[in-house]
Amino acid sequence: ATERLLEIAKGVTGEMAAKVVDLRWREAPVHERLAHALVHGIADYVVADTEEARRLAERPIEVIEGPLMDGMKIVGDLFGSGKMFLPQVVKSARVMKRAVAHLIPYIEAEKERNADTRLKGKVVMATVKGDVHDIGKNIVGVVLQCNNYDVVDLGVMVPWAKILEAAIREKADLIGLSGLITPSLEEMTYVAGEMEREGLKIPLLIGGATTSRTHTAVRIEPRYSGPVVHVIDASRAVGVASALLSDTGRDAFVREISDEYADLRARRAERLSDVKRQPLSAARANKLRLDPLAPPAPTFSGVRTFDDVSLADLVPRIDWTPFFQTWELAGHYPEILDDPKVGEAATTLFADAREMLRRIVTEHWLTARAVVGFFRAASDGSDDIRVWDGDDLSAPPRAVIHTIRQQMLKSNDQPNLALADFVAPLGSPVADWIGAFAVTTGIGLDVKVAELEKAGDDYSAILLKSLSDRLAEAFAERLHERVRRDLWGYAPDEHLDNRAIIDESYQGIRPAPGYPACPDHTEKKTLFELLDATARAGITLTESFAMLPTAAVSGYYLWHPQADYFGVGKIERDQVEDYARRKGQDLATTERWLAPILNYDR
Ligand code: SAH
Repeated sequence: ATERLLEIAKGVTGEMAAKVVDLRWREAPVHERLAHALVHGIADYVVADTEEARRLAERPIEVIEGPLMDGMKIVGDLFGSGKMFLPQVVKSARVMKRAVAHLIPYIEAEKERNADTRLKGKVVMATVKGDVHDIGKNIVGVVLQCNNYDVVDLGVMVPWAKILEAAIREKADLIGLSGLITPSLEEMTYVAGEMEREGLKIPLLIGGATTSRTHTAVRIEPRYSGPVVHVIDASRAVGVASALLSDTGRDAFVREISDEYADLRARRAERLSDVKRQPLSAARANKLRLDPLAPPAPTFSGVRTFDDVSLADLVPRIDWTPFFQTWELAGHYPEILDDPKVGEAATTLFADAREMLRRIVTEHWLTARAVVGFFRAASDGSDDIRVWDGDDLSAPPRAVIHTIRQQMLKSNDQPNLALADFVAPLGSPVADWIGAFAVTTGIGLDVKVAELEKAGDDYSAILLKSLSDRLAEAFAERLHERVRRDLWGYAPDEHLDNRAIIDESYQGIRPAPGYPACPDHTEKKTLFELLDATARAGITLTESFAMLPTAAVSGYYLWHPQADYFGVGKIERDQVEDYARRKGQDLATTERWLAPILNYDR
């Protein structure tokens, strides 16, 4: 038997080895090798091959304009026809960058500055003031570069004046604005207005998670007389850019989009007058009345910092499905790995992610930190939650959390909810509690990302950013679990597997300001003050209340079994006026922050 096993083993080794070192493509002519390396994202030989091609060429620029561009064209075509996916394209870009980096000294030695003669156009991109959205914009930038556009990325939190100035200085053919959080919708509208005042006609592309065709049509396009186009994801960016810069197709494309947006505006106007909301007083009268349950006391009151967190402990709690969404691979994990269409791309990306996670953990690339607080709390009848430091609810509250109530018409005895409903009211026989938290896994991220970008490795830089976001969500999940079982301890016997936890089958919720149950981002200010989150966890807020580091999550803990996620939907002016008064804020400012949920035109 031993002999026979050895016999078989020999064969197996041979086969494996043959597979790993299948280098037959290395025997092809150098142009084909370069194309192969680009299409397959293999960076190992690209410098040597580029050098060989350079020696064969008359001028170094010909290597870029010839074989490298040809290779990238194949990549672009495969991507465009859905046979290649984002992670692969970003990897191809890394190969391209390495090849170009090798050629640049030679091109410069020739004093040849016309390396961009064949560029299709110049795009100035920026994430607007107050916002830190980055990954999606990075991906769009890489995809455009792959398709021979010159991309000037101004980074994140860019004020309008800098965007305009760069667009004019760079003679941009296109301007791209991106944003992740709802306050950025207002900021983009503002930038469009300033572009108009400046007399620009450069087409404006709008992208990012909270942006939409409707918002672009209703709020942005009317401000700017140049073309305005909403770009739904990175895979559309090239199509839109080339249509906007095409000599022949441009006018028809611009007309088509602007007709479509006019139509959207008309339909929205109809909808607005269609949907009847109820007065705030009626909505309040239809609030949820909690079943009276004795609120369980947490193991401590006040605030506690957690900086002893092991990243290894967070890895099993990662929800992978949103990770694949970030890379524009559609499907649920783990089934996505076997998907007939994207399975192969997903599997390779997943393997790269696991390997990088291993290094993040063992080489301590990132540090995780959190702060948790528990406070006495009571709802006050006007949709606010009062929060105290001590146990004396007759003392002045430490802080007030303002919540917003649903105003849509309800049927079947459904309540009009506000988060305040999930906290026992003032005057109730037992005093309730509320929890608050902020977590980050982004400490150390910038340094590492800069290192990778400097090495021309956008793929790894984007992979790292997307993984640190995942770790932050996993941290929020892990911490919430600890809170339920232990720190607050209202569900000490909970035993849920990862699937059940991701499906949120546990008791209580952790709503996050900026999400549908509490869409006002400015409430993060109160949350952060309660937690002292900046000093304790190193998380800061931008002027639009985005969190920095980007890999951060914050929110409230509500324990009651009836607490559930909901959306406040659109609200009427009566509630906005009431809310502004409660917050001690003028109406116009309040309307600006709440713009995405107003059921009326300001
Ligand atoms: N497993 C996901 C979790 C993120 S989304 C991931 O890894 O990305 C779920 C979180 O978003 C919730 O825990 C809550 O903090 C927030 N959230 C979801 N729906 C919400 C709503 N309607 N109102 C407020 N917060 C909400």
